[in-house]
Amino acid sequence: MQKVITTNPYDDDHLHEECAVFGIYGHSEAAALVALGLHALQHRGQEAAGIVTHDGAQFHAHRGIGLVGDIFADRTVIARLKGNVAIGHTRYSTTGEPMLRNVQPLFAELEIGGLAIAHNGNLTNARTVRKELVSNGCIFQSTTDTEIIIHIMATTRGTVVDRLIAALRQVEGAYSLAVMGQDYLIGVRDPYGVRPLVLGQLGDAYIFASETCAFDIIGATYVRDVEPGELIVVDAEGIHSHRPFPVTKSRFCIFEHIYFSKPDSIVDGTSVYEARKRIGIELAREHPVDADVTVPVPDSGVPSAIGFAAESGMSYDLGIIRNHYVGRTFIEPSDEIRHLGVKLKHNANRAVIQGKRVVLVDDSIVRGTTSRKIVEMVRNAGAREVHMRISSPPTTHSCFYGVDTPERDQLLAANHDVEEMRRIIGADSLAFISIDGLYRAMGLSGRNAADPQYCDACFTGDYPLRLTDRLGGNGARQLSLLAESA
Ligand code: SF4
Repeated sequence: MQKVITTNPYDDDHLHEECAVFGIYGHSEAAALVALGLHALQHRGQEAAGIVTHDGAQFHAHRGIGLVGDIFADRTVIARLKGNVAIGHTRYSTTGEPMLRNVQPLFAELEIGGLAIAHNGNLTNARTVRKELVSNGCIFQSTTDTEIIIHIMATTRGTVVDRLIAALRQVEGAYSLAVMGQDYLIGVRDPYGVRPLVLGQLGDAYIFASETCAFDIIGATYVRDVEPGELIVVDAEGIHSHRPFPVTKSRFCIFEHIYFSKPDSIVDGTSVYEARKRIGIELAREHPVDADVTVPVPDSGVPSAIGFAAESGMSYDLGIIRNHYVGRTFIEPSDEIRHLGVKLKHNANRAVIQGKRVVLVDDSIVRGTTSRKIVEMVRNAGAREVHMRISSPPTTHSCFYGVDTPERDQLLAANHDVEEMRRIIGADSLAFISIDGLYRAMGLSGRNAADPQYCDACFTGDYPLRLTDRLGGNGARQLSLLAESA
């Protein structure tokens, strides 16, 4: 019997952002606006979503498995989510079936009142802290790392802000949070600011979102980024900023600019689209090709390919057409037709490719499986030569800060040099932007190894935040070993 599975076997050769958050305070249509915001952030997680609201008397919640549009399609669902304050979350689950009890926002009744929390990122000491909490009698409802924040808040004293700060002082890792109670909304970013979080305004209402594209869909204006280590409270008295953590150097995830964020967003104060174009320009300067046409691997390779073509003085054309109607699920094929899988999503445009020397521009190579199939597809469509240019450095290390990455033994670049990778994917040439070129595209003079301004650990092995769970509680020492092995 055929099984229904996700399309991942076909298109999973990318890293996956694991979550998006959205919160609004002070709007009578709060739930509907959160649903729209989550819809704009759907690229950050497609497995499950949820919304929690408060109407002045009680909390309301709805969570489901699937896409935002499906979960909130029934208008009676939004109608039930009454209130002027709301938060929402959309999630990409890393393993197996997503369990409903893990779908955020999480909610708990504390001594200080009900509290809901939505988290983008990953806590790197969650297992260690959880063990301690369980041995002290805490009973967990989910298997998410986020729940430890609620338990620590429940067992400390003071206001909600005091308790949240106390909890965040005990956790390590990456977090951008939207937190709400009956009469407040809080947005907070970890001291390194690994994951994005932006502040916006719609009339008198304040909004937190993972990216600014969520503001555009509801007509809100971008005010500014929540700063690394900043905690902003919105309540009836207005907006209050707290900086409870020691000042550290920001290490925003550079992969947000390369791939995760939507190109129409501004993150980290920079247009994602413009950053990607500049990366393409640097890539062309570092690794020029004598060829006829630049072809993006859609959609994420498009802005970099535009930059690459412009800098190379080469024509740019859509030599690969993407099928936009591939859902997240499909019938698992038999082995005989499995190799056709890549064509579910991409098809070569023979009219552009035939007889040409083609430069394909893509954002990354993870396992190399999709790249190999795309190169083969373009060759079969009549390309004379197929050159591959990648707008990120080789992905040699796993991410532990909120992005689903394979273990190192499955990362092509962790196990092969560029020439071997070229042979494996079957291209005539293969080149990646250098780490310095990437930093130049971000407006810097190159990577300062003593003080890099971004997290770039998946390219360098230089992990800025301790990996306590992963490395047996001795995260700091092990981090330097990982960096040495980079
Ligand atoms: S390891 Fe890579 S994907 Fe993860 S936060 Fe750092 S730069 Fe981003």
